[in-house]
Amino acid sequence: MARRESKTAKRERISVILDRLSRSYPDAKVGLDFETPLQLLIATILSAQCTDARVNMVTPGLFEKYPTVHDYAHAPIEELEDAVRTTGFYKNKARNIQLCCRQLIERHNGDVPETMQDLTQLAGVGRKTANCVLTNCFGAQGITVDTHVTRISNLLGLVNDEDAVRIEFALMELIPQERWNEFNHSIIAHGRATCIARRPKCDQCPISDLCPSASLS
Ligand code: SF4
Repeated sequence: MARRESKTAKRERISVILDRLSRSYPDAKVGLDFETPLQLLIATILSAQCTDARVNMVTPGLFEKYPTVHDYAHAPIEELEDAVRTTGFYKNKARNIQLCCRQLIERHNGDVPETMQDLTQLAGVGRKTANCVLTNCFGAQGITVDTHVTRISNLLGLVNDEDAVRIEFALMELIPQERWNEFNHSIIAHGRATCIARRPKCDQCPISDLCPSASLS
C-alpha cells in the first residue's frame, strides 16, 4: 500500500488515522509527570533510554530535593548521580542536568527558554526534549520523535527511516501543523495500548485497514 503511495494519498490516509486514533485515545497526553517547565525539562532528559514509568518513580523525590535550577547547579555531582541512578546512564544524565541548569542561570536568568534554538543549545537537550517542553509547557505544536513515533510511523509506512530528526521533518511535511501535537499524543498512546513493540494487537487495532504492516491472522 505505502510503497507507491503519493504524498496526497498519504496525507489523506494520515488524516483518517488521526481521526480514529483521537477517538480511541481522547485523553492522550505526555506520560511524564511534571508541574513546571524545569521539571519537564529534567524529566525528559532522564527519559532517554528509559521508560516514562521509571522516570515518574524517580522524579517526585528528585523534584523535592532539588526545587530550583540553583539546587541542581550546586549539588555535589555524586549526590545527583545517586538521585537519578535507576534511570540508567546516570553519570551522563546527572552531568547534563547540572550543566544544563548552570547554562539556564548564565544565559536565561534561571528560566527555561521558549524557543527551539535556545533549548537545543543546552546540555543534554536535543530536538526531542525541546519539542516535548515546547509543546507541553509553551503551547507550541511539534512532533516529539520517541521510540513509539519512530516504530509506528515506519509500520504505517509514513516514513522509512530510523533517524529521529529526518522522521520529524518528514512527518511535519505530511501532517498539518495544527495536528502535530494530536499526532504525537495519539501515536504514543497507541504504542502503549495496542501497537506494542514486538506484540502489536493488530486484531484490535482501529487503524488496521490503513496499516500496511497489519497482521490479522
Ligand atoms: S495494524 Fe498492527 S502494526 Fe499496524 S498500527 Fe495497528 S497494531 Fe500496529
